[in-house]
Amino acid sequence: MQLYTIDTGYFKLDGGAMFGVVPKVLWSKTNPTDENNLCSWAMRSLLIEDGDRLILIDNGIGEKQEDNFLKHYYLHGDVNLHSSLSKHGFSADDVTDVFLTHLHFDHCGGSVIKTGGGSFETAFKNAKYWSNKDHWAWATSPNKREGASFLKENFSPILESGQLSYIEKDVNNYLTESPLGIDVLFVDGHTEKQMIPVIDYRGQKIAFAADLVPTCGHIPVPYLMSYDVRPLVSLDEKEKFLNYCHENDVFLFFEHDAFVELGSLENTARGVRLNNKLKLSEL
Ligand SMILES: [Zn+2]
Repeated sequence: MQLYTIDTGYFKLDGGAMFGVVPKVLWSKTNPTDENNLCSWAMRSLLIEDGDRLILIDNGIGEKQEDNFLKHYYLHGDVNLHSSLSKHGFSADDVTDVFLTHLHFDHCGGSVIKTGGGSFETAFKNAKYWSNKDHWAWATSPNKREGASFLKENFSPILESGQLSYIEKDVNNYLTESPLGIDVLFVDGHTEKQMIPVIDYRGQKIAFAADLVPTCGHIPVPYLMSYDVRPLVSLDEKEKFLNYCHENDVFLFFEHDAFVELGSLENTARGVRLNNKLKLSEL
């Protein structure tokens, strides 16, 4: 198995929204803001080459949204999904599986492209796209709180093309064994049935922490995003997940941390904390 970091670019979000009730004086030490109180966040995907399979986990915001939408998100950085795939010698057509942790636009926007004629089609022609039944239903009939994050054009073409597959949660175990050969944790605090992949890699485990622990600044358990729809559920899920990762020597891969790609954990008197900051290439 080989893993590759796929940087799809950076965007900006309000620092306060990213840290909920935590005061700026605390979170701004590690997350500097611009003059509008916005912080820079990565949209970092992970590519898994495993035998005949090439699995892409999440794919950023994509390139099809109108300026009117994008003006709120200040995209920056000189990389994108396709430049990062080609840097490692791959193209979109090589991808066999697209694993979507959840369908918020900053995680799944690259799933779909806009054609010259203005219609939408899937970006990965040869891939199965993986979600789960409950999250798909949740995203396609969104509540008013999350409505702005679930964009129909990001997922309708996946269903219409017949490329959609579901992973079914194993209700008897903490992790679900998926048909992709990777384990999956289902969590409900950030949104309904977000899926967190846990990958066995060269004798070590890596969890793609997605929006359960979006940056290393979110490791302290009460540091929750305002975006979470069930914050008290997030609190419990995160504590359990961090303890599991610490006890099982699982590294965290941060999708949204602009500075830290991978972290190891340690236990302290205050709870589980970041130990070392690493790059995937150092494993
Ligand atoms: Zn999200």
